[in-house]
Amino acid sequence: MAFNIYYYESSVDCNFCKKRFTTYKVRPNRFKIIEEQTDFMPIYEGLNPLLYEVAVCPHCGYAYHKSMTRTYGPFMLLIDELYIKELQKPINICKERTIDDAIASYKLAYLVSRASMEEPLLMGNFALKIAWLYRLKNEVKSEMHYLYSARDFYSKSFASNQEGEERIQYLYAEISLRIGDIAEAKKGFSRLISNRNVSNKYRKLTSKRWENYKYDEHTLRSNESTGEIIN
Ligand SMILES: [Zn+2]
Repeated sequence: MAFNIYYYESSVDCNFCKKRFTTYKVRPNRFKIIEEQTDFMPIYEGLNPLLYEVAVCPHCGYAYHKSMTRTYGPFMLLIDELYIKELQKPINICKERTIDDAIASYKLAYLVSRASMEEPLLMGNFALKIAWLYRLKNEVKSEMHYLYSARDFYSKSFASNQEGEERIQYLYAEISLRIGDIAEAKKGFSRLISNRNVSNKYRKLTSKRWENYKYDEHTLRSNESTGEIIN
C-alpha cells in the first residue's frame, strides 16, 4: 500500500464475519481542535477525525464503534437477525470519506446498536453525532431531527446513568435550547444550578450558557424578557 500523509490504515478483524479489512483513520498530526460548540461539537482545523470513528465491514456490513458494549454472544445473534439479514449490499467506505459517507457509517452503527439493544446513552451519542454532521452540511432540518432523537435518548438515560450524569443533564438542556424548547431548556439548566452535587465546571458552563442565551435573546427582541433562571 502507498504511504498516505493524511491517513493511516487501521486493521480490523470483523466482529461478525471474522474477515479482516483495513479502514482509514486520520493521522493525529493532521487535525487540531480549535473550538468546542455549546453542545460539545468539536470544530477541527485540518481533517475531521469524527468522520472515521465507525468501522464498516465491506464484506458483511457490520458497523463498529468503540463505545459499543453488546458485541458478543447472544447479542450477535440479534444483530444477525435484525441487522445483517435486513441489509442490502454492504457499502465500502473504508477509504477517504465524505460527510455523507460518515453519516451513513453512524446510521449503520445506530442500526447495529438498536438490534443489540444498547443503552439509550450510547444511542443518544450516535444521534448527536449524526446531528453534528448535518450541521457541518448546513442541513438544518435533518440536524433538528437528530437533535430531537438525541434528546429523547438522553431523557431515557437520566435515571440509569450515574457516571456522566451532569453531562447528560447539560446536553438535554442545551439540545432543548437548540430545538427551540425554551421551557424545557430553562427547567434543565435550573435543575443543574440548584443541584448541590453538580461540579463547578458544569455549574459555570450552565450559568454562562444561559446568560449568553438571554443576552442573544435580548439583543434580538429587546422588549421581550426571557426570565431568570436563578430564583
Ligand atoms: Zn464482516
